[in-house]
Amino acid sequence: MSQSQTRTSFIIIPSMILALTILFCIKKNNATAASHQQKEVASAMEEPTFYPTVGDSKYDVIFAKEPSFISQKFDFPVGKPDGTNYFKAREFGQSKHLGEDWNGKGGGNTDLGDPVYSISNGYVSFAENVCCGWGNIVRIVHKFPNHPEYPFVESFYAHLDEIHVKEGDFIKRGQLLGTIGDADGKYSAHLHLEIRNFVDMGVGPGYSDDTFGFLVPTEFIEKY
Ligand SMILES: [Zn+2]
Repeated sequence: MSQSQTRTSFIIIPSMILALTILFCIKKNNATAASHQQKEVASAMEEPTFYPTVGDSKYDVIFAKEPSFISQKFDFPVGKPDGTNYFKAREFGQSKHLGEDWNGKGGGNTDLGDPVYSISNGYVSFAENVCCGWGNIVRIVHKFPNHPEYPFVESFYAHLDEIHVKEGDFIKRGQLLGTIGDADGKYSAHLHLEIRNFVDMGVGPGYSDDTFGFLVPTEFIEKY
């Protein structure tokens, strides 16, 4: 190899290495950007399947974080799962009643302190003492997957003696939420149960001509 050839090689070979290195870096950066972009597109596409029915309501977001608390089926809240040893002292619609009054078969206050269970998986949206005849109330929102009419229902348990849950808790079907009470001595002990297909309405009057947003509890539970 002549001296001039050697000098040329000294210039050409490092230049080629540099060029190849630059080319490699550009390709790598492009690939990283592309995969980042792909991930963004994929997560944007995943979102609608994550919120299948009503988009991004408060309760969709809550249940998306805890999908194991989405409802599968519904049971009765006393004598679980089917109301054994209890009867309805007052039906839905009787004297404009917006719920059902569940009593122990022994009558009177024999059911005072009996366990009350969540009718399904859900999220405790309210657990407080309310004035004017209601006593302790627990309200639970249930996500109801793929129902054509209502994506959520609410169960409403009133006159409780004790409350064993607090607002913000997730709850499983059949889990203890409180005990049957007498609303601080206002009635003989019983559970007032409402099921609503509009969640977070006002506490309500318990009796009304207007049944908008209220379902017949026994019919609903037996259906699901
Ligand atoms: Zn009642």
